[in-house]
Amino acid sequence: MTMAPDHLNLVGGKWIGDGARLDNISPSNTNDLVGRYAQGSLADVDAAVASARNAMKDWSTNSPQVRADLLDAVGSRLLAERSEIGRLLSREEGKTLAEGVGETVRAGQIFKFFAQEALRVEGDSIPSVRPGVDVEIRREPVGIVGLVTPWNFPIAIPAWKIAPALACGNCVILKPADLTPGCAHILARLLDEAGCPAGVFNLVMGPGSTIGQHLVEHPDVDAISFTGSVPVGRAIASAAIGGMKRIQLEMGGKNPMLVLDDADLDVAVRVCLDGAFFSTGQRCTASSRLIVHRKIHDAFVDRLSGAMTALRVGDALDPATQIGPVASERQLENNLRYVEMARSEGAEVIGGERIDVSAPGYFQRPALFLGATNQMQVSREEIFGPCAAVIQCDDLDEGLAIANDTPFGLSSGICTTSLSSARTFKRLSSAGMVMVNLPTAGVDYHVPFGGRKASSFGPREQGRHAREFYTATKTTYIG
Ligand code: NAP
Ligand code: MG
Repeated sequence: MTMAPDHLNLVGGKWIGDGARLDNISPSNTNDLVGRYAQGSLADVDAAVASARNAMKDWSTNSPQVRADLLDAVGSRLLAERSEIGRLLSREEGKTLAEGVGETVRAGQIFKFFAQEALRVEGDSIPSVRPGVDVEIRREPVGIVGLVTPWNFPIAIPAWKIAPALACGNCVILKPADLTPGCAHILARLLDEAGCPAGVFNLVMGPGSTIGQHLVEHPDVDAISFTGSVPVGRAIASAAIGGMKRIQLEMGGKNPMLVLDDADLDVAVRVCLDGAFFSTGQRCTASSRLIVHRKIHDAFVDRLSGAMTALRVGDALDPATQIGPVASERQLENNLRYVEMARSEGAEVIGGERIDVSAPGYFQRPALFLGATNQMQVSREEIFGPCAAVIQCDDLDEGLAIANDTPFGLSSGICTTSLSSARTFKRLSSAGMVMVNLPTAGVDYHVPFGGRKASSFGPREQGRHAREFYTATKTTYIG
């Protein structure tokens, strides 16, 4: 392999890393080495936490204008350098160039949004029930916040945790997914170049099982925000609760899209194609259960499978590609196992096979599992690949019951032209986010994001709601 650039951890304002390196390999071409990334040590985590604690007083008591300016500057860089950063994102994670650039723009918008929010950390002042006493309710920073993020949105998810954390006056240690350290490293560099004070933001790359766990268990970390899988989320929750840390967990989904017999089929096909397969199905909000009214099932499946088969699977950096590779060999093996499982459970499988394109990579055709039931394992477990089960229903009531019959509750959707059906669905859906005639994936950045049941735990992320997690309330009585 050729010489690749070396990337270090940012701890206490210094770029450090005399230990091991991890090769960041492109899933579109396993001969393409994106770069070498430092693997932090437990001592690096300790040093990061200590430097964050040291920086906390100045950072949290300084003018909010300082925080606003820093976040705004990072947002501007992300927007200005969207092509280059988006390209790196696509190269290391495998989503298409359009998706990579789009996600970079989103990260920039998030930083800009929270730059303004830094100036809006407001409180209340109300009369006491005791005469002559005033009561003041203020929001203060939680303290040292550990962030643990997944690989599938390698710049947007770190952005939507870092920006509100800093806006509210906290100090941060980020442990990004080992599969996609490149985007996290860019955020660290942009923050450093924009003048982020030493210790306010720290990056420690390395495996979740060691670096992540040490961060989560660290006695001097006050709060943990995690996005990732349910099993890791559960382990983090039990580790964090021992130290009575504040926790926020965003986890998996098995998101239903209900297509009624009065749906506009053009809309329904477009919505299901996007929701199930774009970003290679590697979205926690992907539509992985398509619940289709029996009357239109055959016509709908005909059109959706035609559109799905026509999708161009290929190198993420090829502008003609519509579906990039699966992010890793392990994820691809997992997806292929579920394709086999669908067959053995009695579904008819269209697509889903591993394919070769020009370079060695992890390419898979999108898949539909026809004739699925909601009880099959492929309908109950999150696959996290370009695979969707198609389940038939007789009417809105049955479709809604199937939609809600899942351990998850992140997002849900309905395709219908009936206002009444849309209203019933949005009221009775047990998901945190509901979409009407829109894909289950694809959200705004200025409104709450999150789910119910096994999908989420703790306060919502994004928009103004983010401060519920990143601030602690203090009530003061003044006599
Ligand atoms: P994951 O395996 O759970 O990993 C997530 C993060 O946790 C990674 O940084 C990982 O580090 C770290 N980690 C692993 N074990 C740990 C431990 N014992 N202690 C502390 N940290 C640990 O998830 P993933 O495979 O990266 O991402 C896919 C999952 O994320 C899917 O389930 C998807 O639904 C979910 N997701 C949810 C949302 C949402 O908002 N609800 C959004 C996107 C993705 P390493 O990978 O470096 O080992
Ligand atoms: Mg990689």
